[in-house]
Amino acid sequence: MTADETDGPDDRWDVAIVGGGPAGCSTGVFTARYGLETVVFDRGRSSLRQCAHLENYLGFPAGIDVETFYALAHDHAEEAGCQVVEDLVESVERADDGFVLETQSGEPVRANRVVAATRYDADYLRPLDADDEMYERHVHDGDEEEYFDRAYADGDGRTPIDGLYVASPVEEASRQAITAAGHGALVGKHVVGDVRRERGYPEGLAGRVDWLRREAARDDEWGDPDRWREYFENHVPDDHDLDEDELAELREQEVEDRLDRYVTDEAIEDRRRRAHDRILEHLDDDRIRAYLDKTDDDSA
Ligand SMILES: Cc1cc2nc3c(=O)[nH]c(=O)nc-3n(C[C@H](O)[C@H](O)[C@H](O)COP(=O)(O)OP(=O)(O)OC[C@H]3O[C@@H](n4cnc5c(N)ncnc54)[C@H](O)[C@@H]3O)c2cc1C
Repeated sequence: MTADETDGPDDRWDVAIVGGGPAGCSTGVFTARYGLETVVFDRGRSSLRQCAHLENYLGFPAGIDVETFYALAHDHAEEAGCQVVEDLVESVERADDGFVLETQSGEPVRANRVVAATRYDADYLRPLDADDEMYERHVHDGDEEEYFDRAYADGDGRTPIDGLYVASPVEEASRQAITAAGHGALVGKHVVGDVRRERGYPEGLAGRVDWLRREAARDDEWGDPDRWREYFENHVPDDHDLDEDELAELREQEVEDRLDRYVTDEAIEDRRRRAHDRILEHLDDDRIRAYLDKTDDDSA
């Protein structure tokens, strides 16, 4: 999708992610699966596109070519609900209750939260650096150069600027694709947690795991919504500042969310077939034919 075709929410995105590499796409999978309106911008200098063949990303026994990996990552982000836009973010500025992103070829975009996920280039964040804390100076061959400070965000990706997160660049995690993806996922989880806090979830209930559970493993106790209500009540701290109605509304949302996370054996099988189909879409047709010919020969 190009910037002109961006089909976002009328007002503003919940989350704008700058960078659609391993870090940014992983963040987007977590924020969009929670239901946050998420846009991922992706254009410009990429670390991963310089890799000859990705051999150490778990799940691909003979490695994976970078083109297929990118297509799978973008497809996954879109399947989760992200809009992936092939545009370069040129600047991010503060606006009332959020941020405005200027892009190379589209209209300015507004977002409540911004996640930087670009291993190489974080110049677009300069307008936010009023306190002169984001960039470090190094001397190279006698010339002084400025780099984004990889320790600017904390280990959870949060920064001193409310609503701004960094999934990449960070010191260690950005150096390998799989750790960059893992860190991106962690940042996505913290964005979701912060949104839930803002919506009133008390500490202790704000963090959420994105799990699917087997219906067959659900015993009578946890099949009962009242058991989840009790669980919720037990985790509400004494010092919360919600009134009774607000607390009841959150509790019912939480119970519904928990019970929605169980899937039947039939639904698991449907998901399995669909998962294989979605991977097949990305494989070389000739390789699929060659594999089928070989299995036919083997069984003849
Ligand atoms: C030569 C080379 C070989 C490598 N080989 C391996 C390897 O074999 N195994 C391994 O695990 N790691 C390897 N790496 C490291 C790996 O590429 C990185 O760890 C990983 O890609 C970091 O992911 P990222 O999402 O943080 O950044 P990136 O992969 O750089 O992704 C960032 C994305 O953001 C986009 N972008 C940048 N600026 C903007 C902007 N202003 N607006 C919008 N989009 C923007 C870029 O186009 C890019 O797609 C290699 C790196 C290099 C350079």
